[in-house]
Amino acid sequence: MSFDGMWADLEPVGRDGSTGGYRRYAWTPADGALREWFTGEARARGLDVVVDRAGNLWAWTADPDAGGPGLVLGSHLDSVPDGGAFDGPLGIVSAFAALDRVDRSALRRPVGIACFADEEGARFGVACAGSRLLTGVLDADRARALTDDAGTTMAEAMAAAGVDPSALGRDDETLRRIGTFVELHVEQGRALVDGDAAVGVGSAIWPHGRWRLDLRGRADHAGTTRLADRDDPMLRLADVIQGARSAAERHGALATVGKVRVLPNGVNAIPSSVTAWLDARGPLDDEVRAVVEEVGRAAGAEPFEESWTPTTGFDGALRDRLATLLGTDGGSTPILATGAGHDAGILAAAGVPTAMLFVRNPTGVSHSPQEHAEADDCHAGVDALARVVMELA
Ligand SMILES: [Zn+2]
Repeated sequence: MSFDGMWADLEPVGRDGSTGGYRRYAWTPADGALREWFTGEARARGLDVVVDRAGNLWAWTADPDAGGPGLVLGSHLDSVPDGGAFDGPLGIVSAFAALDRVDRSALRRPVGIACFADEEGARFGVACAGSRLLTGVLDADRARALTDDAGTTMAEAMAAAGVDPSALGRDDETLRRIGTFVELHVEQGRALVDGDAAVGVGSAIWPHGRWRLDLRGRADHAGTTRLADRDDPMLRLADVIQGARSAAERHGALATVGKVRVLPNGVNAIPSSVTAWLDARGPLDDEVRAVVEEVGRAAGAEPFEESWTPTTGFDGALRDRLATLLGTDGGSTPILATGAGHDAGILAAAGVPTAMLFVRNPTGVSHSPQEHAEADDCHAGVDALARVVMELA
């Protein structure tokens, strides 16, 4: 199946009819359909599919235990709520298409394509759950007990999807097989638009994390409770939101409150509690930490850290080698840092030599149905990935 054919196959899976965005959450039927698609494309190419202890899928051209460690490409297939078509799938579809362009009999080592599970963390709140479990930075017991909004645990969701949750834990057998990991991803910014290039090479992932703020108050009647007598946590939510914005401005960082839960969530009821989630990131670890601390002070609540990833630099020698390889007219291709987290960052932090390629996004918009990459740029990404395979494998 060609790039365009694979793209067309994926288009309807998990798409919401009203928003046009994707709701491809981990361990749901939509996710299952995507994993089945992955396995089908792998088998059609004669690749061996292996499921690791975290439920990530690996498709290999040859036995990585015999001829490895191998070169691994890949990304993820799940999405944020109402996400775009490109974030994740572009890396996997491009990997299959790139493999189709190379003479596999000339490969010196096995090439794998990875499909990481639950990258976005949209359902259970921990981003890159599949790669964090693989590398052991996400504790298996904690992961199994994570719940979605309906109260379903990750363990129950995995079991329902046919993956054994009791096997979760650092997977050294799988890690040993990865000699080099290269993740292609749609750019989530406009550096390549400004740089007038279809493809760029990643330098680092900004430090980033998620915090939960539990704001408690007292439920009461909206019509009979005097203002002076209220204990209204919604006012503190306003402090959190305003505080996040102003702290981010002061510290040269980014901070976002994109999810809140209000109880009981009634129009005529003063809430009993509000839970807000803060996403903070930026070029410098200390500045991001300072933002979170200030938001906590503004809210009068201790932010609970759900995840934190310090600055992750990709392998410098590999980055320069790929930038030169993919450069045109004797120059190198643009090198850019990203504020988005990726499985590539988790693997790099675990000591795997890792690189990222980014494909131009004309608007820079992502995590939205408007996320886009032009077909020519996608094909340029496949070309680049094929050259990387020939160079590294
Ligand atoms: Zn992604």
